[in-house]
Parts: sequence; structure tokens; C-alpha cells
Amino acid sequence: MTITVVWLRRDFRLCDNPAIRHAIDHSDQVILLYIHAPHEEHPWQPGAASNWWLHQSLCAFREQVRKKQGDLIIRQGDSLKSLIEVCTETGSTTVCWNRLYEPVIIKRDRKIREDLEKFGIRAIDFAGALLREPDEVLKEDGTVYRVYTPFSRRHASLAPPEPPLDEPRHVPRFNPVPKSLQIRELGLLDSIQWYAQFPGDWQPGEKGAQHRLQLFSGHAVLNYGHDRDIPNHEGVSRLSPHLHFGEVSPRQVWLHVRSGDNQMHDPPCESRFWPYLRQLIWRDFAHHLLYHHPGMSDCPLNPMYEAFVWGDNRELLEKWQSGQTGIPLVDAGMRQLWQTGWMHNRVRMIVASVLSKNGLVHWLEGARWFWDTLVDADLANNSMGWQWVAGCGPDAAPYFRIFSPKSQGQKFDPDGEYIRRWVPELSAVPTQHIHEPWTWPDWKNSPKKRNYPLPVIDLKQTRRRALDRYQQARQAWMKPP
Ligand SMILES: Cc1cc2nc3c(=O)[nH]c(=O)nc-3n(C[C@H](O)[C@H](O)[C@H](O)COP(=O)(O)OP(=O)(O)OC[C@H]3O[C@@H](n4cnc5c(N)ncnc54)[C@H](O)[C@@H]3O)c2cc1C
Repeated sequence: MTITVVWLRRDFRLCDNPAIRHAIDHSDQVILLYIHAPHEEHPWQPGAASNWWLHQSLCAFREQVRKKQGDLIIRQGDSLKSLIEVCTETGSTTVCWNRLYEPVIIKRDRKIREDLEKFGIRAIDFAGALLREPDEVLKEDGTVYRVYTPFSRRHASLAPPEPPLDEPRHVPRFNPVPKSLQIRELGLLDSIQWYAQFPGDWQPGEKGAQHRLQLFSGHAVLNYGHDRDIPNHEGVSRLSPHLHFGEVSPRQVWLHVRSGDNQMHDPPCESRFWPYLRQLIWRDFAHHLLYHHPGMSDCPLNPMYEAFVWGDNRELLEKWQSGQTGIPLVDAGMRQLWQTGWMHNRVRMIVASVLSKNGLVHWLEGARWFWDTLVDADLANNSMGWQWVAGCGPDAAPYFRIFSPKSQGQKFDPDGEYIRRWVPELSAVPTQHIHEPWTWPDWKNSPKKRNYPLPVIDLKQTRRRALDRYQQARQAWMKPP
């Protein structure tokens, strides 16, 4: 009798799950095991919003597995110890899992593999979280890409992803079912229900991911290139938390996007679904960067910024976090984040630019806040996003690109619908003043004025200051010692 343990980490799906597929194909009985060990991910253990998602995702996955006659076993504590305990209790001789790419996890998994083998337990890992492994897309000379465009060209030139694996018909459960904690015993949900509105926006789990994928079909895919920048429009897929928690694989998304389009057009209009596919390649690029530059989550990838002098504007940071900066588009984004655990990509760039460039607040302060409040908080994507905006990543926005919330708002939220939705204090402000409500002649007389602050910083003056500071840093870096 062969018994295999599948160690689930962030791959809560039955379809296209290589570790589960392997276990079912090669064993008589399978134990699906989740071990809660956030301390092993220190200092980037999941934040509060991720924990909310994880709780829901575990519940959804367990229910789904039970429908297939299987079960999900939950343990807590040291991963190696728990794996050995479960193998000993059940007589399993094989553990398999799907790979993750955060540096501390890679290190931990390598050690666990060695230690399991010392105990006579075979460890097998699989690729399932990315379209391509981080060392699959390399330059001709075998070196690592640091710039997105050539990376994406090379990525796209390789053979297309394999078709996804089918969902297993049933999961052959080990009997008697090993002891398991209840999901609520993991204490993932804060007692103060600040996340009360999340369930209205999200359905964590594989079913929710499939639902989201179906919504993002046909015209949504074809119009993505245009609609993706309009924050008040459902023009993006909102698949990021599902992808992060592995409730859908990037390969499934890739093929869904391509095949959906193929059905509608003959020949398929390649150019219109590529804007979306390129986002999936950005995701691979972020993981490629983190894999090859493990310090990326905490240190600038561009060494010029190592000595950069950041400011310490606590007032701005606090007002930014609570959506009270007095800059309408920034406040709208930060409130969307707080209320839904997600923010539109265009607005992420703007709020990050105001904090790190206008405010000269260290990008890590912003990255940490996002980490705690995003349901899609992902170390690779978040670190790359912040370094890109702050200008210190390898393929970053140039230092002189400082997003103006006013002109970005006029371009991407021209009627102020997004602002009015998230900042109701501004609901009565006429459209031509919505991005600078204090310029509205009636603003002084408006009773709402009392509830909405004036800008916490002067955007023009701080823009000039940021340009000077960045220029000084460049000159200091280029000056011979
Ligand atoms: C400062 C900053 C921080 C960010 N932090 C995160 C984060 O913690 N987690 C996260 O998943 N994304 C992050 N992003 C990238 C991007 O904002 C989100 O992936 C996107 O908004 C998610 O919404 P969506 O699923 O509708 O995306 P879509 O536009 O529908 O894109 C599809 C998928 O492609 C991937 N993707 C899209 N844009 C990017 C990108 N720029 N970089 C990497 N992958 C991308 C995501 O997995 C996304 O789900 C950040 C961007 C910035 C500027």
C-alpha cells in the first residue's frame, strides 16, 4: 500500500495541481496536509488581509475535497516536525508539494527535503505557481534578465504552456483520518471585524476563482488593453488573490484567455489578448527577480539608492494609510484598499508615487502597509511594484516620472466617479473641481468641507524637492570617489 502526503501551502486547487495529481496517480491513499507555520516566513509572514483570505480559502478547499471523498488535515507549528509526525502516524514514505519562490521558503524547503530524506521519506516537488520557472527564461549567455521587455520577448518566444491537468475524480483518503485542527483554531480572523465588507467583494476558493475567470471572458479580455486603466470600471480580472493563493494556476488563466478569444475570432486577434497575457508575464518577471535577487523585498535593486536619504514624514504616512491626505484620488484608493483589501493597479502606482516620491517616505513603509491590507499581498509583485514606482528597481519608472494625481485623475477618472464612490464627502463637488475640491468657489460654504481635509502636502513643491533629491543621489553615485 503506497501512501503519499501532499503538503499544501499556497495551491488550494484540485484542477491543475501537479502535486495532487502525482500523489493520486502513484499512491493508493493520499493525505492532503496544510501546516500553519507563519513564523517560518519571517519577516514577511502573511498580513491581516491575507489571513482573512487564507481562512476562507482553507474552508472552501476542505469542502471541495470532502465532496471528492478526501479530507484536509490541518496542523500548526514547525513544518518539518509536522511532516515527520504525519508520515510516522500514517506510514507514508513520500511527501510532495508545489514549489514557492520566496527566498526564506526556498531555503526552508531545501532543508526540509534533506531532513526528510534522512528519515527515509522521499520528497518530490513540482512547478505549478508560475507560467515558467524562474531560471527558465534566461539570456542567450545564461545570465539573468533585469529588464522586463526583453524578458517578456524571450518568455513569449518559448513553447506555449502545457494544457492544465484535469481535476481528479476522487481523492483516495487515508483511513482512519489523521487528527486535525479546526480551521478556526488557527486564529486567522481578527476579533475586530475590520474586514466585514470583504465577503461582498470576494469569494475565496477554487470555485470563486473559476467564477471570476468566467466573468473575465470575451469582450472583457479583448478590451482589457483600454479598460485596464479606468479604476471605476470592471476592466481588470481581479484574479490576483486567487493567483496568489493558487486557487487557479496561471496556466489555466493563460489558456482560458487564449481559447476564449479563439472561439470568437477566426483567425484569433492576437494583438488584443496580449495586453492581458503580458500581465501574467509581469507576474513571472517579478518572481524571476525575487528568485535571482533574494534581497529585493528589503533592499533597492539599483545600488544607487542604497544611500538615498528618505524623509520621516509620519503625518503624511498616517494620513495616507487612513485615506485622509486631502488628495482625492489618493484617498479614494487608500479607502478602496481598506474596505475591500484590493486597489486598482493604476491607483496603486499613484498612491505609491505620492508617498515615496512627493513624500520621500521610504518605499518599505508603503510596501509594509500594502502587505498587511491587501488580500493579494505577494512578496514578488509587491516588492517589484514598490521598487518600480520609487525608481529604485532595475527596470523602474525613471526618477523624474512623478505621477500627478490631478492629471492622472483627469485622464483615468475624468468624471470623478471613482473618487465620489470612495470619498462620499466629495459627492456634491462639480466634476471640473473634483480633483482639487478646494478650487471650487462654493467649497468654503459646503458643509461637507468640514469633513474633508486640505492636502497634507503641496504636490508641486514636493515634486520639485523630489526631483532635486533624486538628482543629487544620481550625481553622488556617478561622482568618482
Ligand atoms: C505599488 C504596487 C504594489 C503592488 N502589489 C502587488 C501585490 O502585493 N500583489 C499582486 O498580485 N500585485 C501587486 N501589484 C501589481 C498589480 O497592481 C496587481 O497585480 C493588480 O492590480 C491585480 O489586479 P487584477 O488581478 O485585476 O490584475 P489584472 O490587470 O487583471 O492582471 C492579471 C494578473 O496579472 C498579474 N499582474 C498584473 N499586473 C502586474 C504587475 N504590475 N506586477 C506583477 N503582476 C501583475 C497579477 O497576478 C494579476 O492578477 C502591485 C503594483 C504596485 C504598483
